[in-house]
Amino acid sequence: MRAAAADLAPAVAEVITRTEQPYVQVVCDTRIPGMAEGRVAIIGDAAFAACPHAAAGTAKAADDVWQLYEHLGAGGGGIADTLKRWEPGQLELGNQLIDRVAAMGARSQFSNTWVPGDPDLRFGLYAPGK
Ligand SMILES: Cc1cc2nc3c(=O)[nH]c(=O)nc-3n(C[C@H](O)[C@H](O)[C@H](O)COP(=O)(O)OP(=O)(O)OC[C@H]3O[C@@H](n4cnc5c(N)ncnc54)[C@H](O)[C@@H]3O)c2cc1C
Repeated sequence: MRAAAADLAPAVAEVITRTEQPYVQVVCDTRIPGMAEGRVAIIGDAAFAACPHAAAGTAKAADDVWQLYEHLGAGGGGIADTLKRWEPGQLELGNQLIDRVAAMGARSQFSNTWVPGDPDLRFGLYAPGK
């Protein structure tokens, strides 16, 4: 990190060189194959934790609960049946978010194709900018 500091903007380089004990924090995506088991629902980061490129983790946790509220409000069947109807949409949402942040991370860290201003790189839960 200290060797790389010479190539960075002065303010960023100063943070690195003045940090006495730098550390590395591993950040990774996690997926889950199912979010409903009987009367139990797994939501938010406990189900899918996405790298920060889309800045959508909070929105996803809220969407999981909002959709659950809508399904419970729609009535029909018991809680376990309701959770099974709620689950597919939230699995799809979580998987598309992880797919998108993984692609963004690859552009940022591996293929070096991250172009500032590219609309595909906008924050968003459902899609870039949404
Ligand atoms: C550094 C950082 C920056 C981030 N920046 C953004 C951002 O800019 N935009 C964005 O959308 N998202 C961001 N996120 C992600 C966002 O914070 C999470 O996606 C979101 O908080 C997930 O909400 P959650 O309710 O699923 O989990 P959490 O917010 O983690 O809530 C889980 C809660 O459960 C509690 N808990 C755990 N175990 C137990 C237990 N056994 N009994 C009782 N309680 C328990 C925990 O204390 C915690 O309060 C960021 C995350 C980090 C770490």
